[in-house]
Amino acid sequence: MNQQKILIIGGGISGLSTARWLADSGVPVELWEADQRLGGKIRSHRESGYLTENAAGILMNYRAEVDQQINAAGLSEQKCSRGSDMRRYVVQGGRLCEVPMQVPALLASPLWSWRGKLRMASELLVARGGDEQETVSQFIRRRFGSEILEKVMDPYVAGTLASDPEQANAASVLPRMTALERRYGSITAGMLINRLLHRQRANRAEAFSFQGGMGKLVEQLANHPLIKRLSGTRATTLQLSGTGWQVGATDRSGAQLSRQVDQLVLATPADATAGLLDGQDARLARLLDAIEYAPLSVLHLGLARKQISHPLDGSGFLTPRREGLSFNGNLWMSSLFAGRAPSGQVLLTSYIGGARHPERSNWNEAQALTYTLADLRRLIGLRGEPDYLRLVHHPRALPLYHGDYLQRSRQIRARVETLPGLHLVGNYLDGVSVRDRIVQGSVTAQQILHSSRSESGAQAFSYRPATVG
Ligand SMILES: Cc1cc2nc3c(=O)[nH]c(=O)nc-3n(C[C@H](O)[C@H](O)[C@H](O)COP(=O)(O)OP(=O)(O)OC[C@H]3O[C@@H](n4cnc5c(N)ncnc54)[C@H](O)[C@@H]3O)c2cc1C
Repeated sequence: MNQQKILIIGGGISGLSTARWLADSGVPVELWEADQRLGGKIRSHRESGYLTENAAGILMNYRAEVDQQINAAGLSEQKCSRGSDMRRYVVQGGRLCEVPMQVPALLASPLWSWRGKLRMASELLVARGGDEQETVSQFIRRRFGSEILEKVMDPYVAGTLASDPEQANAASVLPRMTALERRYGSITAGMLINRLLHRQRANRAEAFSFQGGMGKLVEQLANHPLIKRLSGTRATTLQLSGTGWQVGATDRSGAQLSRQVDQLVLATPADATAGLLDGQDARLARLLDAIEYAPLSVLHLGLARKQISHPLDGSGFLTPRREGLSFNGNLWMSSLFAGRAPSGQVLLTSYIGGARHPERSNWNEAQALTYTLADLRRLIGLRGEPDYLRLVHHPRALPLYHGDYLQRSRQIRARVETLPGLHLVGNYLDGVSVRDRIVQGSVTAQQILHSSRSESGAQAFSYRPATVG
């Protein structure tokens, strides 16, 4: 059998997931990772009885592909889900306020003024509008009014995407909501219709991690006999050659290696991808290089449970810009998942910086601790000092889908189409979450398997190809 040669560069979740989809279909792949360890941003860290995460801590899923890959990787039994009744809070007027998740509670909630409630309810009557350039702020204000933007969407976009709703492109950051408006003319109507049509899955997300943390996911995805992993191997050159690609790298001993491959998947961040492609397609490289990234720091604090008066009966809280707090969100990791802190202790994780306050991501441990503790003392009744602290800096944490991102991403895709056998995966396209990474991996693997050049004879997956976003 004449099998295609497939090389994946980059061993974060994007590259690993793509590799795993191919391997599970019986197709061998080689994967190069510059770092000594696989996983990219995702890394779980055990220390002093605490289990902390460098980046992704929660997999929020509503896609069948994620379930399928987790099952195939033998991880179903190691999932730890948070309780379905977990509360979510936002800060309002210097206090934590529960965010209602059901419509009756939403209408009764003290979070909104009567005016705000009426404006939200009138979403059903708001005509279609906006354009592709519309920002998240403009879109939410137009559909629901300012209150929901300021109290919920602003903290959501800042807290989960490190982004700024005043600059983020609505169609790219909120693809499901903007699609509901396009299709049904109203988000509320679209959600109700979907519910009536029993498309409940689309609205019901499961939030989980794994025993041993998110690091378990990348470890298990990589663990397949058809994935040949070369860590400590940094790709340095690539060029179109004949019907495929000639790729060069430096390995951990400093030796040079090269491969001629039929299908090349670049699963590296946008700037690294730009560097690799510069000699082949300078225009594509420039488009990639112009994608902005936000810096972000993650501050983990371990404390005795009795040092905190709040019941910590939820997943944590997000912070609206107008509350002027030092961090974007605070997750109560030990409330979310078992085994995150020693008995009698709790683990609280704060996210500092992002597009709203990039300068704060440079805070050192003393600064991050001082400002964060001051806010936590007021909000959750924290007393004393933590017995554990870990600060993780990410100078380029997350790509920002800001400004002309939609056109830029289209131009990137159009140019990639002209380069045969080349595939770009990574969180600068199709969403930043781990869920989106796995879905994108499945789409890319499908494209490779179904490519007209494929002679592998491998079986395609048993589900319909997914559309991303
Ligand atoms: C602080 C933080 C919190 C987050 N929280 C969540 C969360 O709770 N839930 C969620 O779903 N998502 C979360 N995310 C998002 C998610 O973690 C990331 O989007 C995802 O891990 C990115 O994966 P990736 O493979 O695209 O990129 P990366 O993880 O950056 O992987 C790219 C890899 O390419 C390698 N590489 C680069 N250049 C080369 C080269 N020349 N040769 C070989 N290899 C190379 C790098 O070493 C790296 O390993 C969070 C992100 C951050 C930063």
